[in-house]
Amino acid sequence: MKCQYCGEREATLQYSKQGNGQHIILHFCAPCYEKLISGGVPPEVAVFEKLAKIGKECKVCGTTASEFTSTLFLGCSECYYEMRDIVNKVIYKLQGATTHKGKRPGGEK
Ligand SMILES: [Zn+2]
Ligand SMILES: [Zn+2]
Repeated sequence: MKCQYCGEREATLQYSKQGNGQHIILHFCAPCYEKLISGGVPPEVAVFEKLAKIGKECKVCGTTASEFTSTLFLGCSECYYEMRDIVNKVIYKLQGATTHKGKRPGGEK
């Protein structure tokens, strides 16, 4: 796959970060990786800042792409839909966020 920062060179290095129940995996080419690691800004923030220029905004809670990219938190379930272009550009997992379409309690008769 291509580097997620420059989008030009082939990604050869992987950066992953876990915390706050989230797991983010990013793929970079060597020059971008070096630049981002030494840049003082967390690589995931640098990538999200680039993506934030897409300028999406959640219609439900008003969370903007730039807010999302600075906090990495979605304001509501609708955010994921609104921000999916951004979210899909990185492998972004929210642990325990999988909702099961379970049976209704007391139903089934
Ligand atoms: Zn790159
Ligand atoms: Zn929202």
